[in-house]
Amino acid sequence: MTEKRASEEFLNYRLPSGKPITGTLLWYYAICKREVWLMARNITPDEEHQSLEIGRVVHESFYTKMKKEVEVEGMKIDVIGGKDGVVYEVKTTSKFLEATKLQLGYYLLRLEQMGVKARGVIAIPRERKRLHIELDSELREQVLSVLKEISELCMKPLPPPPERIRFCRRCAYRDFCWGVME
Ligand code: SF4
Repeated sequence: MTEKRASEEFLNYRLPSGKPITGTLLWYYAICKREVWLMARNITPDEEHQSLEIGRVVHESFYTKMKKEVEVEGMKIDVIGGKDGVVYEVKTTSKFLEATKLQLGYYLLRLEQMGVKARGVIAIPRERKRLHIELDSELREQVLSVLKEISELCMKPLPPPPERIRFCRRCAYRDFCWGVME
């Protein structure tokens, strides 16, 4: 892909409603498309859900150490640390690495569009792991393609039906989709 084409496609990072697509939506797209539709429609999940709470605690503790946080339209970048432009995405587990890579790739692409060349690191403090991510042509194509697919998905009048996946048990929408799970 040429730089010109990447730039043109990247401009379309908004939902049909005009809201910017967030990095979180890309993460969920890799996990459950129904969840993307629900989040894009502002159907609020259970904010007190345990996995959300654990995530908040891990993030807060990591932030305390790094003391850096950046917010740009549609992106809540966990941390840009160090002297060489490294974007950190902090997670509680390494179970959903492909989804996190997509989310981080989106941040790197958006930053590139703003003239900031950065590298990515997926940090999993509880597992003492760090994975380095570069915005190569494969990741770039993947992100652009998913942005387009998210827009198409969110234009649909109804969400995809629920499908039981392993993530359902920790999903904040689980009662909404399944009632009370045993
Ligand atoms: S409970 Fe399962 S099907 Fe429903 S939104 Fe969450 S992950 Fe998707």
